[in-house]
Amino acid sequence: MAVNPLLIKAAVAVATDKRFWITLVSIIVGFLLVITSVVAVIINSFSFILGGKMDIGASAQYKEYVVEMKQKFDGIESEITSLNSKMNGETLESEHIKAVFYTLYFGDAKTNFDSAFYKRFVNCFVSRGKDEDGKEIIKPVGWTESYINIENLTGKSFSENHRNNVGELYYNQKYGSSKSDENYEVDNSEIDNSTGQYGSPFIGINWRNYITSEYGMRKNPTGIGEKMHTGLDIGMPKGTPINAVDGGVVLYAKRDITGYGYHLAIEHASGIVTLYAHCSELLISPGQKVAKGEVIAKVGTTGNSTGNHLHIEFLVNGKQQNPIKFLN
Ligand SMILES: [Zn+2]
Repeated sequence: MAVNPLLIKAAVAVATDKRFWITLVSIIVGFLLVITSVVAVIINSFSFILGGKMDIGASAQYKEYVVEMKQKFDGIESEITSLNSKMNGETLESEHIKAVFYTLYFGDAKTNFDSAFYKRFVNCFVSRGKDEDGKEIIKPVGWTESYINIENLTGKSFSENHRNNVGELYYNQKYGSSKSDENYEVDNSEIDNSTGQYGSPFIGINWRNYITSEYGMRKNPTGIGEKMHTGLDIGMPKGTPINAVDGGVVLYAKRDITGYGYHLAIEHASGIVTLYAHCSELLISPGQKVAKGEVIAKVGTTGNSTGNHLHIEFLVNGKQQNPIKFLN
């Protein structure tokens, strides 16, 4: 496992002086890059990556990095604006492009980029073609394609860790980090849309045909012996929409890299909570009221998972029970 050393450096500084970082970033960069889960993961990985060495006095230098990154973001932004004006109604995702740039170059004070580089960098996020009249058509490309282009441009590999870091930065920016690690305190009177009848997490699909692992004791997939499997696994392609099995209020929506990965929990009436784990995207926020059948997330394989699937749990008064007893 290799974590981008620049991001480790950043994480040390964040951990050392978080308040400084939050203030500075929100004032100067205007692009919130405070990422508690990345920080946690990187800090947990310290001992073997840094050999126990920790750069405590990084804050002053860190300030420089932030100012410098702000200038580089300006360079990128002007290229994004220019490309957006050439696209037919479609626009580039500025936060995603900046998250990729940040992940690659944060703290890289030695490298100075010129506008030609920013142009080439931003062009990694589009494809060019021609219409019937020979007119050029520019379109945004998907994340995976953009990473291949980035690898070709920089000559560096864009690893799984880079991708995870970009995901964290992007989703925290897009959905806000302030609430993502908190539990929303649900007032029972808010839950007036819970029917007590639980539908399929994949409307129109018979989930029974796609079970990859049942609830209960099973062979530990990552070690010796048996381990309790606290939910039901349903294998589905990445990006499949996940429906709320009943109405309720979102307790939390967390974007962890380990464990449950991107996961969320909904509180329903009668002390029942449903949990949806390993998602590729979370489409709701804590405190939000959701209707039965509403699309709340997309299937993925984030966290401790070996393939795309939904891990769904039913908690009754805080205790996990077999989801098969509830789902229809
Ligand atoms: Zn599972």
